[in-house]
Amino acid sequence: MAERRFVIVGNGAAGTTAAEELRKLDPSGRITLIGLEPYPLYNRVSLPRVLQGRLAPERTLLRTVEWHAQRGIDLRLETEAAALHVAERTLELSTGEALPWDALLIATGGRPRRLGVPGDDAPNVLHFQTLDDTRRLLEAAAEARARSGAEARAVVIGGSFIAYELTEGFVQQGLRVTWLMRGDRFLRRVLPPEAGELVDAIAGERGVEVVHNEEVARVVVRDGLAVAVETKSGRRYPCDLVGAGVGLEMYTAWLAGSPVPLEDGAVRTDERLSTGIEGVFAAGDVARFFDPIIGRRHRMGTWDNALMHGRVAARNMLGAGEVYREVPTYSSPLFDSNISVLGMTPEDHPGLEAVTRVDAAARTARTLFFLEGRLAGAVLIGAPRGRKRLLELVKSGEPVAAAEREALLKGE
Ligand SMILES: Cc1cc2nc3c(=O)[nH]c(=O)nc-3n(C[C@H](O)[C@H](O)[C@H](O)COP(=O)(O)OP(=O)(O)OC[C@H]3O[C@@H](n4cnc5c(N)ncnc54)[C@H](O)[C@@H]3O)c2cc1C
Repeated sequence: MAERRFVIVGNGAAGTTAAEELRKLDPSGRITLIGLEPYPLYNRVSLPRVLQGRLAPERTLLRTVEWHAQRGIDLRLETEAAALHVAERTLELSTGEALPWDALLIATGGRPRRLGVPGDDAPNVLHFQTLDDTRRLLEAAAEARARSGAEARAVVIGGSFIAYELTEGFVQQGLRVTWLMRGDRFLRRVLPPEAGELVDAIAGERGVEVVHNEEVARVVVRDGLAVAVETKSGRRYPCDLVGAGVGLEMYTAWLAGSPVPLEDGAVRTDERLSTGIEGVFAAGDVARFFDPIIGRRHRMGTWDNALMHGRVAARNMLGAGEVYREVPTYSSPLFDSNISVLGMTPEDHPGLEAVTRVDAAARTARTLFFLEGRLAGAVLIGAPRGRKRLLELVKSGEPVAAAEREALLKGE
């Protein structure tokens, strides 16, 4: 049989894992791995530690170019996939080269959404997605300190994880930080108000000014640099630097004109990560996949999901027909504390019943989400006690009796 040709677009966690798994299972297939960025796989989850000055940028690298060569994986860096031709079964690169494929994986992730207001293109309005973004953020923080000394100030915009990471990073870089969010609390679609108050208290202890219910109207630019953020309520927040964390848009523009199905800008797949087009799969952040645990499609933006998707997609590119069945999890530091999210949350499933227990003195908040008497998900602030048991319960779908519910809430 002729050797099979596998093409993977995107060399992040999902794409690189898929390439590795393909090589393990098919020693002779031709594997081409394409990536826009100039680096082999690096750990995005470690970027916040780089921004905090606790890790050197090069320590995030997880693979080398040689690692790919040794495995016969043709890694093409700084290379852009420009169009997918399904009838011809080729991938067109921006150089015009056409790569033939027998199976293709879309693992392109996303890029930060711009603020979409006047002034958002000033060079000190920055995002946080790549290693190069992180380097720019460090430079901009140093410039801000050089300009304004101890008064140097950053404004962070957004109510989700990346905005939090920017806030903490800037605090560690010695900047005064104002954190603006549109909603009335951090993760407003996931956390109940009491847990949001706890996050404000934790941020406040680190000197962060948290401002809710503020929507950005424009970035005020003077002499080519952002000097303030103005909100729709008419307030003005002076700054030396702006960090924007307002979500991702998926890298799917290159699929326009192809029959690959898109939903909310992401690639729609079934529970086997297949797009429904023979031989074409999607994995990681870019995939809006059918999740049999919750019985609906959703998109996950987590490292573990990207790794596990990469493995399953590779096996299915080889014809395994494997169903992806994992409870989604996300875990992140939260200043000196920690936040863990698992399973379904009201963000994906607004009808969930939520029960919360906050212990302000211990700085913990535990929220459990139930659907028809079964545990569907949880968010834990503070030590994630009993997380393993929670994961088992979500996965098994067993009914949870009242006494056990109480114990789970207390973390017993
Ligand atoms: C600062 C930060 C902190 C995070 N912290 C956590 C955390 O604590 N826990 C957690 O679980 N997750 C965290 N995440 C999320 C996690 O990093 C992502 O979910 C994961 O990296 C997604 O992997 P992926 O392979 O799907 O996509 P990506 O890692 O985004 O890789 C996709 C690659 O494809 C490339 N690409 C796009 N279009 C093209 C094209 N047309 N041609 C060629 N290449 C293309 C992109 O440039 C990119 O390099 C964090 C993310 C960031 C940015």
